[in-house]
Amino acid sequence: MSADSTFPAAPPRIRVVLVGTQHPGNIGSTARAMKTMGLSRLALVAPERYPHPDAEALAAGADDVLAAAAMHGDLATAIADCQLVYGCTARSRRIALDEYTPRIAATRLLAASREGGEVALVFGRERTGLTNEELQLCHAAVHIPANPEYSSLNLAQAVQVLAYELRMAMLEDAAADVVEGHREPPASHAQLESFFSQLAETLDAIDFHKGRTPDAAMHKLRRIFLRAALDEREVRILRGVLADAQRMARLAADRGKA
Ligand code: SAH
Repeated sequence: MSADSTFPAAPPRIRVVLVGTQHPGNIGSTARAMKTMGLSRLALVAPERYPHPDAEALAAGADDVLAAAAMHGDLATAIADCQLVYGCTARSRRIALDEYTPRIAATRLLAASREGGEVALVFGRERTGLTNEELQLCHAAVHIPANPEYSSLNLAQAVQVLAYELRMAMLEDAAADVVEGHREPPASHAQLESFFSQLAETLDAIDFHKGRTPDAAMHKLRRIFLRAALDEREVRILRGVLADAQRMARLAADRGKA
């Protein structure tokens, strides 16, 4: 099963908000970073120079994301309708705010968006990041645990890291949906014990032990099959194989007698 076959058709309602971006090229690179990971909702808060040919150039094939970008005068307006907002910071701030890794943040944002909420990831200015007032508008901070002596990523690259984590979280969610939808019940203790009895009988019938004590081999085989956490269907398949082996052993024995 390829990852794509499990991917949800509708992209999640996750908004990337760039605040006060100084280099228009970073806006284009952000659009590209988003589109590669299946995100399309971009909001720009008071960019310094935009529209700009550098933004178009660096967006490459993601000019549709750029063209659809919403423009806002301040952060409060850009996130007014959001239920969950995380602010990305390159360094720890003095304000008291929970801080998450990108992986944890992605899982939480996705969960909130699946429940129908509007959610946003906010990124600051290249030179100065987000102000403390802007961070106060966020429910938590997200920090990419980079080299502590050089922790500030290029803006669009920080967006790429978060967008990738969001995509991984989406793929895991989609795969879990598929698996849970077709999940067979795990084999019961009684079903496994019947299987083990049939396995022991079959090993005798095909003369697997050749004079050695059967206990040691059965112990090892039990360990292998118990580790596999078999479901009911898998036990049925294995018992089918054993039934055929038993039938062949009987045929061989009958032929031997004839
Ligand atoms: N000199 C600024 C860095 C700004 S980098 C400062 O000290 O805050 C531009 C934006 O990229 C940041 O505001 C943040 O949103 C994001 N960013 C860069 N590095 C990051 C990191 N290590 N973790 C989280 N976000 C980061």
